[in-house]
Amino acid sequence: MHLTTEGLTNFIDEDSIWNIVHATATAEPKRIHDILDKAKEAKGLTLEETAFLLQADDPEVNEAIFETARAVKRMIYGNRLVLFAPLYVTNECSNRCAYCGFKADNKDLERRTLTAEEIRQEVFVLENLGHKRLLLVYGEHPKFGADWIAETVRTVYETVAEKSGEIRRVNINCAPLDVEGFRTLHDVGIGTYQCFQETYHSSTYSKLHPCGHKQHILWRLYALHRAMEAGIDDVGMGALLGIYDYRFDTLAMLTHAAELEDKFGVGPHTISFPRLEPALNADIAFNPPYPITDIQFKRLVAVLRLSVPYTGLILSTREGQAMRRELLDLGVSQLSAGSRTYPGGYADPNYDRPEVQQFCVGDNRSLDEVIQEIVHQGYIPSWCTACYRLGRTGEHFMELAKKGFIQDFCHPNSLFTFKEYLHDYATDSTRTLGFPLIQRELDEFPTKRRDVVASRLQRIEHGERDLYL
Ligand code: SAM
Ligand code: SF4
Repeated sequence: MHLTTEGLTNFIDEDSIWNIVHATATAEPKRIHDILDKAKEAKGLTLEETAFLLQADDPEVNEAIFETARAVKRMIYGNRLVLFAPLYVTNECSNRCAYCGFKADNKDLERRTLTAEEIRQEVFVLENLGHKRLLLVYGEHPKFGADWIAETVRTVYETVAEKSGEIRRVNINCAPLDVEGFRTLHDVGIGTYQCFQETYHSSTYSKLHPCGHKQHILWRLYALHRAMEAGIDDVGMGALLGIYDYRFDTLAMLTHAAELEDKFGVGPHTISFPRLEPALNADIAFNPPYPITDIQFKRLVAVLRLSVPYTGLILSTREGQAMRRELLDLGVSQLSAGSRTYPGGYADPNYDRPEVQQFCVGDNRSLDEVIQEIVHQGYIPSWCTACYRLGRTGEHFMELAKKGFIQDFCHPNSLFTFKEYLHDYATDSTRTLGFPLIQRELDEFPTKRRDVVASRLQRIEHGERDLYL
């Protein structure tokens, strides 16, 4: 891999972000209401407007922000929620990120890199549970180059459990590669490439990432540029909350999003907002230097929904059940469930072992239990992968999304994949809840559309699979 940062400049202007944070610390109620009126149009917000909302710490204002986020989310995404699971391929890592259980100097962590056969075992388990979308996660080590990563992706796509379907979209969270490396991943058919900047504050970044490739902030800051240059249209960004001031990192991340939109005509496909979780031998993870409270966190998610209305917001199992339930309404559009955060976790009957995990999981429920709850909340779980397989990615996807396409296509597609899930994987109690929900949703379509959707639902009932619009 060719690691160079020559000619790159840091497009995050720290002083100017701090100036915005300070200038927006308080606001007249009218200003907040004007911003929320604008947010209802779902055209996004400026950094200043975002900063005003992020810092509007008043119970009534919070409720107004939450209500607006709920409305925008309903308008754009309806009641659909995309589900996925992470698959940890290796926890070997040569970096020493202060917060991570996989860091190289954590001698107590059991190191493991899955063989092709072990990857297949994990995929079989996940497929038998009903998963169709996986996020492959990797530590960073010189022995794992782009070709090796691509081979692991190929293994996942080629693994098809008998009677149980296949993985239809593999997303990746691995350390930044060079353009050629990203091209290799693009060629093997990855969906989204995800890379979290962790923090955009350069001196904090340097302190927490003392060695390895990850110490080079510009190499990481331009990772998504290189991925897009290599043809990967869908990229995901994120900040690790708790390691620096969340207001700064949120505004910096939105600056990063705007930079991609400016350079490539489209911003990130997804944004993640992991909160620091306890991790073996990572002291800082037990005692975050910049803790973000629950109310600040909820407001952050709601404000992101208003700032970048068409960007997918991803929620992991780092958060506990109660917080996850609330965040779904406030703007989250993708959710992991039944996750294990170490290599081999799905095939391991004794999964709750800190000596192997990257961090502690806050929601340990199974996929089916999570589905029951979200169906109770009125959501339709979706495993749809149609856009990516039909080339509706990047700029093309965003254009369609802005024309209301999500409701016209994603909504029926979610019903198709949910119906598959109910027939092939669900427990009886989930079926009892799920089939009537599908019927209620079907009844809401205008007649012509209803006929198209109903006929496909019937085909699924008769055994056809993988139907989409
Ligand atoms: N090694 C690659 C990298 O660092 O980009 C990708 C995998 S890394 C396991 C994925 C993400 O996990 C990191 O980007 C970081 O944000 C997050 N993470 C690390 N330690 C964490 C912790 N203690 N709590 C929550 N998230 C953590
Ligand atoms: Fe390695 Fe990634 Fe963990 Fe850092 S966050 S120690 S690079 S696995």
